[in-house]
Parts: sequence; structure tokens; C-alpha cells
Amino acid sequence: MPNEEQRDGLVKVAEAFKCHNCGYAGLTEAKTIYPITINFPGGDTHSFSIKQCSECNLVNTVGVTPQILDIAYSSEYYGGGSRKFLDIIEFILKFISKLKAKTLAGHVNGASNQTLKVLDIGCGRGLLLSAYQAMGCEITGLERTKLPLAGPISPYVHIGAITDDPVASKQYDLIVIWHVLEHLEKTNYMLCQCKQLLTHNGIVAIAVPNFSSLQRRLFGRHWFHLDVPRHVPHLDTRWLMSALQAEQLSIIKTSHTDLIQNCYGFVQSTLNAIFPNDPNGFSDSLTSGILNRGIIPIVLTQEEYPLFSYTASLRSA
Ligand SMILES: [Zn+2]
Repeated sequence: MPNEEQRDGLVKVAEAFKCHNCGYAGLTEAKTIYPITINFPGGDTHSFSIKQCSECNLVNTVGVTPQILDIAYSSEYYGGGSRKFLDIIEFILKFISKLKAKTLAGHVNGASNQTLKVLDIGCGRGLLLSAYQAMGCEITGLERTKLPLAGPISPYVHIGAITDDPVASKQYDLIVIWHVLEHLEKTNYMLCQCKQLLTHNGIVAIAVPNFSSLQRRLFGRHWFHLDVPRHVPHLDTRWLMSALQAEQLSIIKTSHTDLIQNCYGFVQSTLNAIFPNDPNGFSDSLTSGILNRGIIPIVLTQEEYPLFSYTASLRSA
């Protein structure tokens, strides 16, 4: 008989083979869309599979345990200090964050006449939050791990869950979930929680990799934005629309033009297909601390416009 610790371990392993959204336990019998093998630092190799749930239709990464996620979200993932990338990339990211902050705030009715209350779910190092702070907004950040922050925003960043106070005790005019939903389990539950926290005219801004994109179809298991095992659900436009409509959220705008993510994803996916033994090497070469991987970050731009692969959606209650 297994002891209590072993039983807990078995339960966690069993959970890894259920649908991350609805908990359906029959995923192991579903057809494998892609088998994925990841070599972790230290020599450990883990196998995963991408499968679609027959109950809720969400595409899942199957085989992700909490222990594997701990390794996958090591400090290297976020960068070793208050910066994650090379200086020039950091400069560009800060500039883009300011533009994004203004663009998203512009969708809130009456934004120019009030102090906006903004929640950034999965705020990372807080580039976007810092931009909102500079705009005079009332900011709240939510993150799973304590990180070195890019700006004086630490009093406003909560480490924990969306149901924790002080996050859950406030209402927000703008909730941003920017390339975060694909990292979270219980997608429907998260969308429901967001709706509960919105003010009357509030909006939710969501961006996710689009699993139904041309880029994913073109690169298959080499697609950079599969990002196994960190991406547990793999969302597409139709699934997301349906989930939001089920929460009675109306769509203000949908866009597939995330220039950075699309071009970056195209370049890295191409390299992954050419050099399958060095997955995401280009991505690594842009992070601080690993400066010389022999790949010059020249990003293909205009030619790749037809391959836009992201969905950025704005919703209002
Ligand atoms: Zn499901």
C-alpha cells in the first residue's frame, strides 16, 4: 500500500491526465495531435501529448505535473534580474508596453474622465503595470511568483490567486490577461472570475496564441507558441469566443495583428523545425545571461504579415 505522500503523488499524476478546463478524465483515450518530448536542464526527459477534450473541446497539454511546472518556471524563465532580455529588446518592450497601455485604456468608456482601475493578471515584471502607473491609473498586479519588478510597483503586486484579497475585494475598469490564459488551468473559471471583478463599463483584454492559426498548422509540433509544458490549454478563436459568450461577455474588438509575437513565433518556429535538437535556442539567445548562441536576432518582418497567429480580444460586460 502506498503511504500518504505516495498517494498524494499518484493523485497529482492522475490530475495531469485530466482536461485542464473541465476535469474530464478520458483524455488518455483521445487521439494525440502531437507527441512532444522535452529535455530539461539536468538531463531529465519528459513526454507529453497534445490532445483535444471530447467534453469541452479544449486542446490540452497532457502529462503536466506540478513538479514539472516548478522546473519549467525556474528563474531562468523570467530572467535573472529586473530585466529578462538584452538591453535593446528591453527598451523596445518598454516602448511597446506604453503603447499597449494607452491603446487598451482607450477602449474603456469615459477613460479620459476618470482614474482607471487596472488589474494585470500574470503581470510578470510589471512592464505594463508601470506604464499604467505612469498614466496615473490605480494599479493591481497578480503573479504566481515573486519577481524582480521593473519599476516602483511592488506594493501593488499580489502573489497568489485571483480569489485572494485584496485582488478580489476590488472592481476594475480594465482587466488585462495578456499571453497568460494559456498558462492557467480552469480557463472557463478564470473568465468567470474576471467578469465578477469588472465594473459596469469594464472590459477584459485577452491575448493568446491561436491554435487554429496558419502558423501552428504550418509548423505543427515545432510551433514556438505550443511552449510545452508551460502552455496547458491551447486556445483558438472559436473556443475563446464561445467561452466568452457563455459568460455573457460581448465582444468589442478582435485582432490578429500582434507584430512582435507573430514575427518572433515565425522565426523561432522555423529554427525549431530546422534544428529540432535546439528547441527555442533563438528565444534563449535573447534572454539576459545567455548572450551568445550564434544566432543574430534579425527578425523577418513585412513578409510574414499573412502569418499572423494571435488573437487579441476585448470584451465588455
Ligand atoms: Zn475538457
